[in-house]
Amino acid sequence: MSSDAGAPLLEVEDLVTRYPVSRGLMGTIAGRPRLNVHAADGISFSLRSGEMLAIVGESGCGKTTTAQTVMRMIEPDGGRIRFRGSDITTLSHRQMRPLRRQMQLIYQDPYESLDPRFRVGDTVEEPLIIHGEGGTKDGRDKLVREALERAGLSPSELYVERYPHELSGGQRQRVAIAASLVLNPSLLVADEPVSMLDVSVRAGILDLLAGLRRAGLGILMITHDLSTAAHYADRIAVMYLGRIVEIGSAKEVVRRPQHPYTRALVSVVPSRDPRTGPRPQLLKGETPNAVHIPPGCRFHPRCPQAIEECKSVDPQLRPAGGEGQEAACILVGHNEHLDAEGGGPGAPTATAPGRI
Ligand code: SF4
Repeated sequence: MSSDAGAPLLEVEDLVTRYPVSRGLMGTIAGRPRLNVHAADGISFSLRSGEMLAIVGESGCGKTTTAQTVMRMIEPDGGRIRFRGSDITTLSHRQMRPLRRQMQLIYQDPYESLDPRFRVGDTVEEPLIIHGEGGTKDGRDKLVREALERAGLSPSELYVERYPHELSGGQRQRVAIAASLVLNPSLLVADEPVSMLDVSVRAGILDLLAGLRRAGLGILMITHDLSTAAHYADRIAVMYLGRIVEIGSAKEVVRRPQHPYTRALVSVVPSRDPRTGPRPQLLKGETPNAVHIPPGCRFHPRCPQAIEECKSVDPQLRPAGGEGQEAACILVGHNEHLDAEGGGPGAPTATAPGRI
């Protein structure tokens, strides 16, 4: 484990995670080849302290697998994960233990992530007990109250004795966030943190995460909601079938998307003024199976701009559009192809949020 002062908080390089597909008894007897779901297939990105990076994509694109692999909840099949400059890719569970308090995961469903038998105070205190932090009971209680206040449950005395069923969905998610914050982590991974919540409380939770980001935490947010990413994240990485196909500042990716897939996503975000928004671009076909990744550009069966070469060339991320923006498309730099199909850099831009 090497250390590098001044490195980004998190660096992920060429991460690969596969799930083997069961062949079944008959498949094994028949000697059918072993197949894998290519959930993360060469993912690279970095995250700084005080930054929020949103990984955006459809269900099944591999974004949650990527997040869980980064947290070492799933073993990677390849690539590197560095946390604060140290390589954590192959650390044992025991070696990971002291790092776990610095890397916390916020789950999608606060109804499931909280134990209904635990009072709020017990839930938030539990990580301190597990990690042997906080000293005495009084010391732990003080940290619990501080974490609750930090998560917006104020005054904390109103909440410590309550059970989850006595709380709203938004309050439960705040308890889950408080349980993450109580260990004073430097990285939060938020997996669809508001998708199970009423629309009325989503903004409050997202504002809370934005405040934590401003306070210096690095936040990796997993979402299928491009508008949420555009509004709250500093940078966006768009995933398709196990790969990042575009990454850049949230503003640039949404205003000047360079990859045809990102353009299609942006085009279906409802505009405040339908007369000025881009023409909605409906992609043909279903997302291919992650077991059988199409050859060449994996997006080519659905890409409205595909050319013959796309069936054989597997494009890698390269600079495109704004500063720091990259896209994995062979037509990047040949925008006449993209513009001819509509939705190119000169095309009208989306201005209002919506789901993909
Ligand atoms: Fe479409 Fe070809 Fe670009 Fe892939 S490489 S996104 S198929 S134009």
